[in-house]
Amino acid sequence: MVQMYYENDADPALITRRKVAVMGFGSQGHAHALNLKDSGVDVVVGLREGSRRTQAASDAGLKVVDPETAAEWADVIMILVPDQVQADFYSELIAPRLQTGDTLLFAHGFSIHFDFIDPPPDVDVAMVAPKGPGHLVRRQFVEGSGVPTLVAVHQDATGSALDLALSYANAIGGTRAGVIETTFAEETETDLFGEQVILCGGVDSLIQASFETLVDAGYEPEMAYFEVLHELKLIVDLLFEGGIEWMRHSVSDTAEYGDITRGPRIVTDDTRAEMRVILDEIRSGAFAREWMAEYRTGAPRLKAARADIAAHPVEVTGKRLRDMMPFLVAKTPEDDV
Ligand code: NAD
Ligand code: MG
Repeated sequence: MVQMYYENDADPALITRRKVAVMGFGSQGHAHALNLKDSGVDVVVGLREGSRRTQAASDAGLKVVDPETAAEWADVIMILVPDQVQADFYSELIAPRLQTGDTLLFAHGFSIHFDFIDPPPDVDVAMVAPKGPGHLVRRQFVEGSGVPTLVAVHQDATGSALDLALSYANAIGGTRAGVIETTFAEETETDLFGEQVILCGGVDSLIQASFETLVDAGYEPEMAYFEVLHELKLIVDLLFEGGIEWMRHSVSDTAEYGDITRGPRIVTDDTRAEMRVILDEIRSGAFAREWMAEYRTGAPRLKAARADIAAHPVEVTGKRLRDMMPFLVAKTPEDDV
C-alpha cells in the first residue's frame, strides 16, 4: 500500500518560512507560482530576459527576476522548465548559486533519475508532482480543491526534505486531494511508460490507424472522425468516473460484447511483448538518452512529426468540424502563449 498524506499531515509554516523561486512560467510554473502566492508563500518567478512569459507572470501580480537572481535569493528552487532543458539550465544558472541546506524541487523525476542533473550532497532534492496539467492545478485550487500529487525524496541532506515537500504540496492544493509518496525511479518510469504506451503514443496511434482503416474502406472522413476521436472523450469520462465496469455498464450491450471479444484482438501478445520492450528502454535509460540526443541536435524528428500530423486527414477533418461545434472552444498550439 502506498503512503497517503492529507492536509493534517502538512505543516503550512515550513514553506512560508522559506524563499521560493519557481523557474519557468509554463503549464506547471504558472499554477505553482500563483497557488504559492495565494497561500502566503514568498515566491518569485525566474525567467530569462526576453522570455515570452514575463508579461503574463507580472500581469498575474508575480515578481519576476532572471533565473540567476532568483536562484541566488531563494532557498527553495522548483525547476519547471521543460525536462530536456533542465540539465543545461541547472548547470549554468542554478548549480553555481546553491548553498548548503537549500532545497531543489522537481515536478518530474526525469533529470535526476537519469543523472542529467547531479546535485551536491548538502542540498535536499525532492519532487512535488501534481498528477494533472497546470491549468487544472490552478483551477482546482481556486475552486477550493486540489489535484492528487506525488511527493518523493531523492536526497535528504537536512533530514526534513519530506516535510518540506509536503508543506509545498499543501500550499499548491495537493493535500486537499491527497498526496502519495513515491520514489523518483517509480514516478519517472511509470510516467514515461504511461505517456508512451497509452495516454499519448498508444491512443494517438489507435486514432490514426482506425481513422485510416475506415476512410480507406470508403467511409466519410467526418463519420470516421466522430467515431474514433470525438467520442473518445465521452468514453474516457465514463472510465474516469467509474472505471471499466461503469463504462461497460453505460454503453450498449452490443458495444460491450464487441469490447470483450474484439479488444483483445487489437492488443495482442505481440503488443504486450512490445510494451515490455518499451518499458525496458525506459528503465535502462535508453529512451532518455535518445530523447536528449534528439533535443540537442535540434529535435528534427519532433519537428517533422509536428508538420506531418498537422497535414494528416484526421487533423484536417477534425479542425473543420471542431470549428462548427459552438459548445467546444477549439484549440490549436498557436492559442498557447
Ligand atoms: P512548459 O513547456 O509548459 O513550460 C516551460 C516553461 O519554461 C516555459 O513557459 C518557459 O517559461 C520556460 N522555458 C521554456 N524553454 C526554456 C529554455 N530553453 N530555457 C529556460 N526556460 C525555458 O513545461 P511544463 O509542461 O510546465 O513542464 C515543467 C515540468 O513539469 C516538467 O518537468 C514536466 O515534466 C513537469 N510536469 C508537467 C505536467 C504537465 O501537465 N504539463 C504535469 C506534471 C509534471
Ligand atoms: Mg505525465
